[in-house]
Amino acid sequence: MLWVGIGCERGTSSRLIASTIDRTCRNHHLSTSAIAGIASIDLKANEVGLLGFCRDRNLPFRCFSSEELSAIEVPNPSAIVAAEVGTPSVSEAAAILAAGDEADLRVKKQIVREEGEAGAVTIAIAQSQQEFTDRTGALWLVGTGPGSLEQITPAARSAIAQADVVIGYLLYVDLVSPLLRPGQIIETSPITQERQRGDRAIDLAQWGLTVAVISSGDCGIYGMAGLVMEQLQQRGWDGKTPKVEVFPGITALQAAAARVGAPLMHDFCAISLSDLLTPWEMIEKRLTAAAAADFVTAIYNPRSQTRTQQIGTARKIFLQHRKADTPVALVRSVYRPDEQITLTTLGELDVEAIDMLTVVLIGNQSTRQHGDWLITPRGYLGFGAGNTPS
Ligand code: SAH
Repeated sequence: MLWVGIGCERGTSSRLIASTIDRTCRNHHLSTSAIAGIASIDLKANEVGLLGFCRDRNLPFRCFSSEELSAIEVPNPSAIVAAEVGTPSVSEAAAILAAGDEADLRVKKQIVREEGEAGAVTIAIAQSQQEFTDRTGALWLVGTGPGSLEQITPAARSAIAQADVVIGYLLYVDLVSPLLRPGQIIETSPITQERQRGDRAIDLAQWGLTVAVISSGDCGIYGMAGLVMEQLQQRGWDGKTPKVEVFPGITALQAAAARVGAPLMHDFCAISLSDLLTPWEMIEKRLTAAAAADFVTAIYNPRSQTRTQQIGTARKIFLQHRKADTPVALVRSVYRPDEQITLTTLGELDVEAIDMLTVVLIGNQSTRQHGDWLITPRGYLGFGAGNTPS
């Protein structure tokens, strides 16, 4: 697609602008139907001839400030233009800026006048590497729940089905594959490449596509939502374009709790033991505070193949504040075909049985096991004698 940079004297007619553009394209064997839009300096935002031309041809008109334009390197800078409008180039710089990354300047600056016609036009044409669409893109940050399709919200389901592009870690994309439809672009990547995934999603949304970024569970709980929004902010996002929408999902702690009864009934918290993005001292501080404050605690990312020590340390910290018979649930791959549930206690906790697909629920001082169930009372009042927590 072509972006035409235009500078013109005040009062130049739309007729002269049109004939300049048409003739320049013809002379350079460029098709006018490939023109994506017209670009200029913001001083020209109210230039009648330019506005009229864009309206007649139904083309977008983009204006840039003199600061933006002077930052662009051009083949034909002019000191006279710089003195007049504060940038050494209007047409070449505007064309290159509008055409975006890796723009190719196909026609260098030319000045056109016509006999018997007032005004003058400078024109330059840059070719954009990217297809131009006038759609504004959207980023949908979608939580797909813990595993089974039944545990996805209807809103998240339809987001996944409607998106132009679905991006996610391979395992999670596989889990939602029955919702995908032909014609969608599906991009999967290894779990470690979260940052690349976020960047790719933003690129595609800025291109005008509707992009669903999926995370398991809730996308705002140790998921992609925070990362993508951080990256957007770093890239100068105005908060509006691309449009962002977050679709909540059932997070691991809710799913796990449901499978073992009602362990989260009183105040609870979630702590991730992954020290990739958080210093371990901070994690330890939070474990200590949660243990001391008697929060029911859900431990995410408890143990990986290389990160094996932390869960043992967490257990020791909790044992300083809770009795050894405090109930603990190890819930692995909840709502997936290989789901595995183990009820144990803080004292007997076998850290070897825990891996990255496990969420660990640690009861508070009044949580109790009843058969295969964990029950945390709704309050601390109403305990009979003998049940009073120490
Ligand atoms: N966004 C996800 C969490 C991602 S962090 C959510 O809201 O659930 C990854 C950790 O979440 C895992 O190490 C594990 O502790 C937990 N987790 C995620 N899915 C799980 C599942 N189906 N069963 C058990 N734990 C799970």
